[in-house]
Amino acid sequence: MKYNSTRNLETVVTASQAIAQGISEEGGLFVPQSLPVYRLEDLRALSELDYKGRAKRIFADFLGDFTAEEISESVEAAYTAEKFGSENPAPISYVRSGKTEMSVLELWHGPTCAFKDMALQILPHLLTKSLKKTCSGREAVILVATSGDTGKAALEGFKDVDGTQIMVFYPVNGVSPMQKRQMATQQGSNVSVVAIEGNFDDAQTGVKKIFTDRSVKEKLAADNKLFSSANSINWGRLLPQVVYYFSAYCEMLKAGRIALGDAINVVVPTGNFGNILAAFYAMNMGLPIRKFICASNANNVLTDFIRTGTYDKKRTFYTTISPSMDILVSSNLERLLYHLTEGNASQVAQWMQSLSETGSYTVTDDIKAKLDQYFYGGFCDDEHTMQTIREMYQNENYLCDTHTAVAVNVYQQYVDETGDLTPSVIASTASPYKFAKSVLEAVSSDALPEDEFDMVDALSAQTGTPVPAPLSSLKDAQVRFTLTCRVDEMPKIVLDSLSL
Ligand SMILES: *Cc1c(COP(=O)(O)O)cnc(C)c1O
Repeated sequence: MKYNSTRNLETVVTASQAIAQGISEEGGLFVPQSLPVYRLEDLRALSELDYKGRAKRIFADFLGDFTAEEISESVEAAYTAEKFGSENPAPISYVRSGKTEMSVLELWHGPTCAFKDMALQILPHLLTKSLKKTCSGREAVILVATSGDTGKAALEGFKDVDGTQIMVFYPVNGVSPMQKRQMATQQGSNVSVVAIEGNFDDAQTGVKKIFTDRSVKEKLAADNKLFSSANSINWGRLLPQVVYYFSAYCEMLKAGRIALGDAINVVVPTGNFGNILAAFYAMNMGLPIRKFICASNANNVLTDFIRTGTYDKKRTFYTTISPSMDILVSSNLERLLYHLTEGNASQVAQWMQSLSETGSYTVTDDIKAKLDQYFYGGFCDDEHTMQTIREMYQNENYLCDTHTAVAVNVYQQYVDETGDLTPSVIASTASPYKFAKSVLEAVSSDALPEDEFDMVDALSAQTGTPVPAPLSSLKDAQVRFTLTCRVDEMPKIVLDSLSL
């Protein structure tokens, strides 16, 4: 299995090159040249396996230049019961919602309590093996700009991984208190965390600048090191997400919720379009998915795109209570366009150029028709997010976080509008305790305590649900990182931390 760039068909790389490089030289994203097809008997066989077995089977089809041992080693190390709380890292809770039952796929049982762990626990293994194959074992320096969840998940994934160093930059006033504490107390001998004076975009721009700074790169190379990236445009982050949609289908089959071959819908709270795209790959591999319900918060650029065919980022940016979806440029949408145009890389390149030059693009009628066939787009503001958390808790005794609540709300809109009662998987992307303030406010009428950990305790007392251990242990964890810097100081800080 080889990979092309979404913007240039002449670019052809192996899986390990795609993962080591992260992004193609002309700015395109790596996409598989073809997809394996799973028939119903393959789905039946998958359902007899455990999560790790399903992951190994699917990875083998995509990681053409990895040995079975390398894949097995990576999967076994990533999805342990110790890290994810049980043998199945992606369990389902079946929750009633009005006329229908939702299969809530809980993707947040990992070490940082958000779904990013599903990919970032395995990416370091895939990346270090890819670097051995492609760059004869040079040490990787991973730079991450984060608005919260990715930074912590990448730190946990890469901590103490041989041959890697990781540095995370976050906006000093742009992450939640819990997210800040998660990062500032990070353990590991190869990690560092720096707050920057600026917003997420400043952090992202600063990191991109360092990536392309020749003098910094040369210093690194002289020390047998190179930069690498752990953000969600890396194929190595997308592939692990395909697995859990197959696994969810298998679990529903085993639980008797569906019969083999039955179609399901998938509902995903969406930011960078990675998670929902993974489900789209699963469908193209033969998983019977009927509709992809793309849920946004007030930053509803994707809702408008799906409804009109025009992607327009020239709009107000809102800071919401579902911050991991506060995004106006959904990078992975580029991969969807590539596949919907059946690999028309020059068309995709043209749309992306238009997006960066004019801030918008409009797809053809033909592509719009395909969007209509597969996707439903909807959004929900903060007030309705809060209301959904409250109703889910009061009516169904199920506590969900702000991002998952956006998905539930949009799903309810979809059912009301269409009457489609196809069994539906809701991707639940974070533990409610990661966003304790909003969740507590939604389910309790008492005055909110000041301190974040008092809110966490109050939420647990109010709902009788347990606080995830990785969050409760933060209360007494030692703060290791307190540095704040200006954006222009970032290159120097990177070099200093590497003693270059
Ligand atoms: C990252 C994130 C999302 C958005 O996922 P995408 O793959 O970027 O669409 C949604 N919810 C939570 C909690 C996240 O951390």
